[in-house]
Amino acid sequence: MTAVGVTGATGRMGREILAALSESEDLALAIAISRREATVDGITVLADDDLSGLLEERRPDVLVDFTVAEAVSRYAGACATAGVPFVTGTTGLDEEVHAALEAASESVPVLQAANFAPGVHVLGRAVRTAVEALEGYDIEVTETHHNGKRDAPSGTAKRLLAAIDTARTDPETRTGGSDHVYGREGHHRRRSAEVGVHVRRAGDVRGEHEVLLADHDEVLTLTHRAESRGVFAAGALDAARWLVDQEPGLYDFEAVL
Ligand code: NAD
Repeated sequence: MTAVGVTGATGRMGREILAALSESEDLALAIAISRREATVDGITVLADDDLSGLLEERRPDVLVDFTVAEAVSRYAGACATAGVPFVTGTTGLDEEVHAALEAASESVPVLQAANFAPGVHVLGRAVRTAVEALEGYDIEVTETHHNGKRDAPSGTAKRLLAAIDTARTDPETRTGGSDHVYGREGHHRRRSAEVGVHVRRAGDVRGEHEVLLADHDEVLTLTHRAESRGVFAAGALDAARWLVDQEPGLYDFEAVL
């Protein structure tokens, strides 16, 4: 049995991870943690005030984190100190948090992924292929998430934009991201180099990403839709299973796939 610690245990993803663990045959819950003490579906969730102490006491084999960017550096640091591998799916991370993950990865294996749905990674590959093949086509990226999501555009949309930027071979449109246009208003003549980025927040949409390419009387849309949070939980737990056997270092979900 691999013992899994869960942070953000009271959140949408945390609850999904707890549910997946309760049905797992090879993973068991070692400790559920959140900002404050709580009870979730009969499980005691402990406050994170002394995370290092909790990790020392409960000794999880791996910690799985879906919280907020502000918490990630602190959690990664505690894992590094306690020697616990760290999986984080939290998005909206800035450079400082990425630096903290790198620092932690010198002591323990760390895996960070903005999206644990396998299909999204295949979408990334398909987008690269389409952009390379359809030179000069207009490209627009649209993402939709539930009304509780804080960061925008989503981490996945940012990765898709990076994939588009590297796949563009035409020097005139190879802009390295400077031509991302976030929504449009008023008079705006579309430049061929720009990539439109559109963010929608509504209801309980789990996560939808669409890349549209259009020109020469045709439109190609490549879309991924998560139908439940279960796909992210399953991916994160696959990552946890994989990470416990790795050497210290910084990994992404592609390595697991
Ligand atoms: P949520 O708001 O439902 O839950 C957030 C959790 O973090 C809660 O338990 C909350 O108590 C805790 N929290 C809030 N502030 C905190 C703080 N300062 N310190 C410690 N804990 C704190 O959010 P969610 O929908 O579960 O999403 C959590 C994160 O996971 C977001 O960044 C989201 O974008 C990301 N996400 C990633 C994937 C993926 O596949 N990588 C999938 C879904 C969501």
